[in-house]
Amino acid sequence: MQIAVAGAGLAGVFAAKTLADAGHEPILIDKGRSAGGRMATRRIGQGKADHGAQFFTVRTRTFQQEVDRWLEQGLIKKWFGDDHPRYMVPEGMNMLVKRMASAFDLHLEERIVRMEADAGGVVLAADSGSIFPADAAIVTFPPPQTAELLHRSAIPGTEEAVEELEALTFRPAIVGLQPLKQHLLIGSNGILDRDLPDGIEKMIAADQKGISTEPILSVYMTGEWSKHYFEESDEVTARAIKNALAAWNTVSTEEIQVKRWRYSEAEQTHSGAWMQAETLPLYFAGDAFLHEDDTSGKTRVESAVLSGIAAAEAVLKQHR
Ligand SMILES: Cc1cc2nc3c(=O)[nH]c(=O)nc-3n(C[C@H](O)[C@H](O)[C@H](O)COP(=O)(O)OP(=O)(O)OC[C@H]3O[C@@H](n4cnc5c(N)ncnc54)[C@H](O)[C@@H]3O)c2cc1C
Repeated sequence: MQIAVAGAGLAGVFAAKTLADAGHEPILIDKGRSAGGRMATRRIGQGKADHGAQFFTVRTRTFQQEVDRWLEQGLIKKWFGDDHPRYMVPEGMNMLVKRMASAFDLHLEERIVRMEADAGGVVLAADSGSIFPADAAIVTFPPPQTAELLHRSAIPGTEEAVEELEALTFRPAIVGLQPLKQHLLIGSNGILDRDLPDGIEKMIAADQKGISTEPILSVYMTGEWSKHYFEESDEVTARAIKNALAAWNTVSTEEIQVKRWRYSEAEQTHSGAWMQAETLPLYFAGDAFLHEDDTSGKTRVESAVLSGIAAAEAVLKQHR
């Protein structure tokens, strides 16, 4: 059976791993130049900084098993905290996903623009002209993007799924990356998330965190601030971040790089770790689909992992 997993973020790679562990050879497709999605790390000069997820916490036994394996392999480290410790990836968060994705038949720079139902299966079509026929597909894009794709594809019988996916709305986030001339110590672990200037939610010093030899500050703007500046130019947004940072006297000759996440965190989540489009072999997963064991109620690294695993298990059960 050919199974396609669309989206090579955490939900996608964990869906692919679950299918591969059961003896399948899934194909993994992403529009990006590399796997990772919101597990994102950028190189700037000789340094690097995370600009999506910064850490993860664990609340379920399933995820704890994965985390224990990663700890054993030296892929992750405890960053700080005793009650629900925060874990980080010394090579950058993106590497964790990239490493996993490389084990599969990975197709990058393939943006899925249409889906069709065909002979009991589904066909995913990319803007490059590539066609991916499959007996079943798991789509792990942020739900507003999946809803738009499904709506545009107009597959008969998917109207209800479109409506359910449309209800899962997301808020945006803007992150500024500021290379610094000298090391700057912030807090005892390289992260500050309180008593910050207006508009700033948290700041992380990549060098102090331990992922970069060069000093780079990741500046996470608040939801309201991000909404306000989302459609502004990079120039205007970078200047506004610089102004907000003025109190910190972060001397740098380089410009602040701006990263915009249109779909950062879900405002509305789905109760249940996956969804299916009526009677089609088309499944939806991702961080907005909350597993019943996940008590956090929020879209996080763990919710994406649990959703990917659960969607793949559902496919395996229904398509023996
Ligand atoms: C700024 C920010 C900070 C965060 N901080 C934390 C944190 O500290 N701790 C934490 O636990 N979580 C955090 N998160 C949340 C965490 O990063 C996500 O919950 C998780 O990475 C989502 O994984 P996913 O696989 O569900 O989605 P994604 O990672 O978004 O993966 C979806 C993939 O689908 C691909 N895709 C989309 N459309 C198409 C298309 N048409 N064709 C092909 N491919 C497509 C994308 O390129 C992407 O790779 C943060 C997120 C953001 C944005």
